[in-house]
Amino acid sequence: MAVPGKYFIYARKSTDVEDKQVRSIDAQLSELRAIAQRDGLFVVAELVEKQSAKAPGRPVFNSMLNSIQHGEANAILAWHPDRLARNMTDGGRIIDLVDTEKIAALRFPTFWFDTTPQGKFMLSMAFSQSKYYVDALAENTKRGYREKIRRGEYPGIAPLGYLNDPRIKRIVIDRERAPVVVELFEEFATGKVTIEGLRDFLRKRGIQSQTGRPKSNEFITRILKNPIYYGHFRYAGDIHEGVHDAILTKALFDRVQEVFARRWRYTRPKPASVAKPFLDLFRCSQCGMSITGEVQKGCTYYRCTKKNKAIKCSQPYIREDALSPQLSRLLSRYSLRSDWAEQMLQKLQAEQVDATRLTEERAVVIRREIERLKGKTSRLLEMRLDGEIEASTHLKKKATMMAEKKSLDEELANLDQTRHTRIELFRNWISEATNLGETIDNGTLDDQATAARKIFGSNLFLDRKRARGEAVKPWAFLAVNGLSDDMVPRTRIELVTLPSSGECSTN
Ligand SMILES: [Zn+2]
Repeated sequence: MAVPGKYFIYARKSTDVEDKQVRSIDAQLSELRAIAQRDGLFVVAELVEKQSAKAPGRPVFNSMLNSIQHGEANAILAWHPDRLARNMTDGGRIIDLVDTEKIAALRFPTFWFDTTPQGKFMLSMAFSQSKYYVDALAENTKRGYREKIRRGEYPGIAPLGYLNDPRIKRIVIDRERAPVVVELFEEFATGKVTIEGLRDFLRKRGIQSQTGRPKSNEFITRILKNPIYYGHFRYAGDIHEGVHDAILTKALFDRVQEVFARRWRYTRPKPASVAKPFLDLFRCSQCGMSITGEVQKGCTYYRCTKKNKAIKCSQPYIREDALSPQLSRLLSRYSLRSDWAEQMLQKLQAEQVDATRLTEERAVVIRREIERLKGKTSRLLEMRLDGEIEASTHLKKKATMMAEKKSLDEELANLDQTRHTRIELFRNWISEATNLGETIDNGTLDDQATAARKIFGSNLFLDRKRARGEAVKPWAFLAVNGLSDDMVPRTRIELVTLPSSGECSTN
């Protein structure tokens, strides 16, 4: 399949230690040439860079982008996005060229790129989360992570009532909100208020969702069941003794748990939709029909609807408590650990500062260039008026200059926005991927189903009681790039919404 275009082959030498696995220049070039030949790509030139891509300002790279800006080529073939850019600034320039259609195609044997908004988003992540960066994080993490838990330091994002102190990398008491948490426990311990009532209670104390709505019942339940407030913390299914200061006594915490236990005995069964949180979440891998749920003897089972008339489906059913841990495991591959996220956010912050500075510098250069072009245009006109050049020459030169000025005007107009929007998108995604851990550890099954719908879309399948899923972008990125390989396995949450019964079949 030939993409119409004029290609630059761009290869960059491995100057960095972390580039060890990257092929030599010669190997890169011969592979890229083979691809060009196979796909019938028209190659304008082969460019070889000797400088690292960690900082902006490589000569060959810059002249390549200039040539593209001037239409000498409109496509790049390289080994991987990280050959092209390892910083947001250069990455941003590439994407700007894609946005302005100066670049029609980017081809990498190791990375699929298409010019959809998602494709561009993925590409910008590949640029900013370069291998160097990910490797460095993984190394840090291996060393430090289990140590952290062993030392009793809560590794996650601080829950309400605590704050993450970035200096000591621990959680500390939030003096403003901790008293509200205590009050919340005390209120509930009286046994006279409902969770529903506590939503209002929190809102009156200024604790509400970003859109100003009261916090959810789940949020409040999670707080009331979180051992972190008396000094322990739950992580990956285990309770650990923490080094952080307690906000309340274990006695108060226990009183609240008693209220929950008492209530539980008297609450009637939840409506069907709540008892079947994974309803229609999966599809049958054999016949493609959706997986439905049903409650029998107090247990929830999931099975294929078997409505496909063309295929005789022979898939067995599965019990919810066998399916739920599988879903947690699938989700956990897409959860970004908070310590990684923290470093990514710091890095992003630094890159934002860099990007701003470089944007300003670039703006100065562009303005100067525009002024120069204006001067040239008026000199050209004078030459024409003095009869020094022909009318046709004048027109031709003037057209070139005007086109050049138009590009510069546009670049100037786009300079700020595109770059910052990308950083914002990236930041939001980091925060969603970080919160996922909390959903897996402490969320309800409904919460997990919601997260799974977001990450996998309709790509969740059940195959002989085995759940599998393929994430949609941008989530696919986390698993593809092995970010979560060293994940501490997360275990499934307690089934708080289902009454336990010994009578269920274990099939
Ligand atoms: Zn089926």
